[in-house]
Amino acid sequence: MLVQFYNVSKIYSNGVKALDDVSLKIERGEFLFLMGPSGAGKSTLIKLFFREEVPTRGQIFIASRSIVRMKRSEVPRLRRNIGIIFQDFKLLENKTASENIAFAMEVVGANPKEIRQRVAEVIEMVGLKGRENSFPGELSGGEQQRVGIARALANRPLLLIADEPTGNLDIDISREIMELLFDINRKGTTVIMATHARELVKAARKRVILLDKGRVIADNPNGESII
Ligand code: ADP
Repeated sequence: MLVQFYNVSKIYSNGVKALDDVSLKIERGEFLFLMGPSGAGKSTLIKLFFREEVPTRGQIFIASRSIVRMKRSEVPRLRRNIGIIFQDFKLLENKTASENIAFAMEVVGANPKEIRQRVAEVIEMVGLKGRENSFPGELSGGEQQRVGIARALANRPLLLIADEPTGNLDIDISREIMELLFDINRKGTTVIMATHARELVKAARKRVILLDKGRVIADNPNGESII
């Protein structure tokens, strides 16, 4: 089991209950969608995974380790095991595609040879060969998201979290990005994708967790309750 949430609630200091008694389990190798209206608690749930927030109540285990009890000194190692992709890509504009990816490895202390090899590997994996030396401003939205995905994969995470990764992309490009995420999942990485894109979810026939007002209101193995 990769992820276990037991009766997790999150109440922010302003009194808002963002998550209310959430329990869920995610196996290694799963691909799942996280859906729900704005304010349902999706971002809060995602922040708990990499300990940007801590729950008010409940327990969370990732790869059998409690991340609630985890020491501050252990948090960087947790974060290295989680790759994140954003709706707005969050690339460094003054760095090329390769440099953006390399940077993610430099900050965790990888050596230059390892970085060179891995950057070439992930560039190839996301289909960006030939675009390594382009700056984000010279790339299309779809290509920028591919850089974002390559960067998220650079440190070989156990878990890839995609927060509305197709939110800024048109439908054809969104489908390509989905195919890439499925491909990454088939190679063994667990993927969690928060999205509003019902069409993509419907076509995928993957597990869907539906949140509303901080509660899990559906957890369907093939997305049927959403359709
Ligand atoms: P979603 O990602 O599904 O839109 P969020 O997790 O962002 O939902 O928000 C859930 C609820 O928690 C909302 O009512 C939101 O206003 C509130 N919330 C989110 N972050 C904070 C915060 N840092 N402080 C206080 N309230 C917050």
